[in-house]
Amino acid sequence: MEVTSLTEGIIIDHVPAGTALKVLQLLHIDPAHTTLALIMNTSSKRYGSKDIIKIEGNQQIDLAVLGLVASTATVDIVQGGVIVEKLNPTLPTHVTDVITCVNPRCVTTIERGLSQRFHLVNELTHEYRCDYCDEEAKL
Ligand SMILES: [Zn+2]
Repeated sequence: MEVTSLTEGIIIDHVPAGTALKVLQLLHIDPAHTTLALIMNTSSKRYGSKDIIKIEGNQQIDLAVLGLVASTATVDIVQGGVIVEKLNPTLPTHVTDVITCVNPRCVTTIERGLSQRFHLVNELTHEYRCDYCDEEAKL
C-alpha cells in the first residue's frame, strides 16, 4: 500500500473487512462524486482481513460516526504525499440520525420527523439501543 499515490486526502485503514461501503454511506461520502479508492478484503496482520478507503481532497470525517461502524479503523491525514496526522475513531455514547430503528412499532417509525436516537449500552460489544423503544441497533 503506497501512500505516495495520494497527495492530499485521507486514508481510512483497518476498516473491518466488507464494511467499507457501509462506512462511506454512514459518513455521507458519495462514491459517485468523490475521488476515492476502495481496497476490500486485503490481508491484515492485525485482523486477518480488512478494507482500506483512500479519499482524495479535503474531506471531513466524523470520527464518532466512524467509531460506530468501524471502531478498529485508523485515519491518516495525508498532505503533500506524507501522513501528517493519525486519528482514531471515538466510540460515541449517543448518536442522532445516523442509524435507523428497525422496530416497526417504535415511535420513530410511526411518527415522522422524530430524531433517530441511540445510546451505547455496552462498550465492549459496541451495542447500541434505541432511546425510545430499547431495540438493539442493526448496523
Ligand atoms: Zn426504536
